[in-house]
Amino acid sequence: MEICETIGATRAATHAARQAGRRISLVPTMGALHEGHLSLVRIAKAQSDFVVVSIFVNPLQFGPTEDLAKYPRTFERDRRMLEQAGADLIFAPTPGEMYPVPPATYVNVEGMSERLDGASRPGHFRGVTTVVAKLFHIVEPDLAVFGQKDAAQVAIIRRMVRDSNFPLAIVAGPIVREPDGLAMSSRNAYLNAEQRQQALVLSRALGQMQQAFHQGERSADRLIDAGTAVFRETPAVRVDYVCVVDPDSLEAIAEIKSSALVAVAAYVGTTRLIDNIVLTASGKS
Ligand code: AMP
Repeated sequence: MEICETIGATRAATHAARQAGRRISLVPTMGALHEGHLSLVRIAKAQSDFVVVSIFVNPLQFGPTEDLAKYPRTFERDRRMLEQAGADLIFAPTPGEMYPVPPATYVNVEGMSERLDGASRPGHFRGVTTVVAKLFHIVEPDLAVFGQKDAAQVAIIRRMVRDSNFPLAIVAGPIVREPDGLAMSSRNAYLNAEQRQQALVLSRALGQMQQAFHQGERSADRLIDAGTAVFRETPAVRVDYVCVVDPDSLEAIAEIKSSALVAVAAYVGTTRLIDNIVLTASGKS
């Protein structure tokens, strides 16, 4: 497994792989890897023959009061995990390599980027799409794999790819959870034992909404009420949003006809966690 810190070295390695006829995949991450990330690497491996994993804590997607400085950085452990998982190349640039001067050029998916997390994290998705566009230009992958854990992110990136004709496929991997239902996240490391228990309210609220849906409830407002009631049982957790939206446009929907993305975000202490499920009227979700 090769480790590249520069754009030039990464381009040279991916160019050589392409010349050798290999299909290239990219799994963008911010490191502090867990089983959720590794599941994406396995999907990438199954669908390509040269897997690039980027590790970059992207300053552009953090707000001024967010956790950029304290975001966990565990490169040596990440390297071992990726080696074991069979990745071919880690691209781990410094902020200076990615942004030698503060960028004046941004990629922004208008409208969608202001929804869900974009509403409470202004500029977040613009930071994500800008760095992902850069990664796509650097690696030029045939496919890129993202986690359904960040459902809004996947929808926004799909739209960016479609609008700007990026020549690659976007693949979404299912959410990997802890045995008790908590969606895996690098930010779970911030939680103390009590908060770790409280954090279960996110998946519990989604479960309640899913159950109501399966019992025939199609009104978004009533589903949101059902989810909100579960959150109320754990007042230490502060809800950011409980949303029922169209999975592609991220626009709120009033009545679920075919499918809906049900997404929640909440603060457990100062840690902001997100989770979601997709409900489909065919019964599968
Ligand atoms: P991050 O390092 O948090 O930026 O995440 C990198 C990629 O891993 C993103 O595409 C995430 O959606 C994905 N990811 C994070 N957590 C999970 C999870 N629990 N299950 C599946 N994918 C995940």
